[in-house]
Amino acid sequence: MNESATATPAKRPAVFLDRDGTVNVEVHYLSQPEQIELLPTVSETISMLNSRGILVVIVTNQAGVARGYFPEHRLITIHDHLRRILGEKNACIDGVYYCPHHPSAGLGEYRKVCDCRKPMPGMLTRAASELSIDLTRSLLIGDRESDLQAGANAGCQTALVTTGYGVETSAAIDLTSVKGIGIFPTVADAVTEWLNQSNGEANLTSSR
Ligand SMILES: [Mg+2]
Ligand SMILES: [Zn+2]
Repeated sequence: MNESATATPAKRPAVFLDRDGTVNVEVHYLSQPEQIELLPTVSETISMLNSRGILVVIVTNQAGVARGYFPEHRLITIHDHLRRILGEKNACIDGVYYCPHHPSAGLGEYRKVCDCRKPMPGMLTRAASELSIDLTRSLLIGDRESDLQAGANAGCQTALVTTGYGVETSAAIDLTSVKGIGIFPTVADAVTEWLNQSNGEANLTSSR
């Protein structure tokens, strides 16, 4: 019955989701919870990942805070609302990480070069240490090149969706430079392909 004192909890894979344009309809500097409109297949996909023991984590740049468009505490309200509407569809988010900074815009503490603003991997590496995530067995899904760069910089595979800015991004991106597995119309299609590719090489829920 006794676990070894040195036993550590098994690291789990995660799907990291960009927020605007990936989880919800892109709105320029979304600043009110009422502006959240879920994109098709998102809640069903999150619910399926929940049932497979794969963590789901949102990682979002929110420079609107640095720019003074809305206060940081508004993000808490917006993300509470997002969790609630997903919860109504049996979809649970394991973590939400945001970067409120901007390297050159705005004033005060938010104007700085940080390690969390995508394409930097800081939000993913922080989530990995706080939630015990195996980044090498994880996927990032986003609609911009900086999303996929953040995922690749953290050691994850990445997938581009053509919602949000994804159509524009798809015209310019070199998928091989960002460990990309493809370009997909929906989050569901990206996750399905990732699970298919992962099946052969690793049991996603096994420990290392
Ligand atoms: Mg986006
Ligand atoms: Zn930051």
